[in-house]
Amino acid sequence: MKEVLVHAARVTFFSILASLVICWTLLSAMGMAMDGLAVTLSIVCPTLVAFPASAYSFDQKRKIAAAHAALTQAHCELATMHEKLAERARRDDLTGLLNRSAFIAAVEERLQKNAKGALLLLDADNFKRINDTYGHLEGDEALRIIARALAGAVRRSDVKGRLGGEEFGIFLAGADLDQAFGVAERVRQAVEEAVFRPSGYPPVRLTVSIGVAAENGETSFSRLMGTADKRLYEAKRRGRNVVVTGGASGQAAA
Ligand code: GH3
Ligand code: MG
Ligand code: MG
Repeated sequence: MKEVLVHAARVTFFSILASLVICWTLLSAMGMAMDGLAVTLSIVCPTLVAFPASAYSFDQKRKIAAAHAALTQAHCELATMHEKLAERARRDDLTGLLNRSAFIAAVEERLQKNAKGALLLLDADNFKRINDTYGHLEGDEALRIIARALAGAVRRSDVKGRLGGEEFGIFLAGADLDQAFGVAERVRQAVEEAVFRPSGYPPVRLTVSIGVAAENGETSFSRLMGTADKRLYEAKRRGRNVVVTGGASGQAAA
């Protein structure tokens, strides 16, 4: 408020000066002298008009500036919130990995940049039995443990997602089938070594079966997924806790 009054006083002071000069110039031109009445009017009129008018105008300006600053701040907060919400919408609530649609979008984006890469499709083995034996909540914990184990076994830059239920996906950009087999084997072992201890029970071993598909050149997520899915099915058929790449030797390890 003090700022507004100082501004208004400054404007009023210059208005009085201008008024005195104009009055003196006009009276001189008419051959008249600047008397006490002329001086009083030259001071009183601008004071009565300029002071309240400029105080009001400065106050409005100050309020608009404050509203603008508040609006800018709200806009920033909204943008941050929007970013956080968008990121949350991409995540699977249970494991924190990408959800199915975000995983597919991320893989397709990488395939467009570099049409070489490998998809690992993982499915937890005999998971229904885990739920049936230890309960659904312990089953959820087992899924979190699998997610942590697989994320810890690959690079941060690799794309990791939960595709639904007890099924996970990992995409290794730029990897060929041999490299992908090595990574898949590491992931399989990491899950096998992870500690799952349902309350009131001794530790339980978790395992995953993995189907791997890799392609050089033009490819699409659905083609990779189709191939990885067939190989995952083959891994289950071979007895589970196995990686199947279907490479030259139809590599499998257990
Ligand atoms: P397989 O080795 O052939 O894959 O056998 P499976 O028992 O893992 O496969 P099946 O498809 O018969 O069962 C999958 C189970 O995964 C059943 C389902 O209740 C459980 N499941 C799926 N999503 C969740 C989840 O979010 N939490 C829990 N706790 N269980 C889940
Ligand atoms: Mg399944
Ligand atoms: Mg399963």
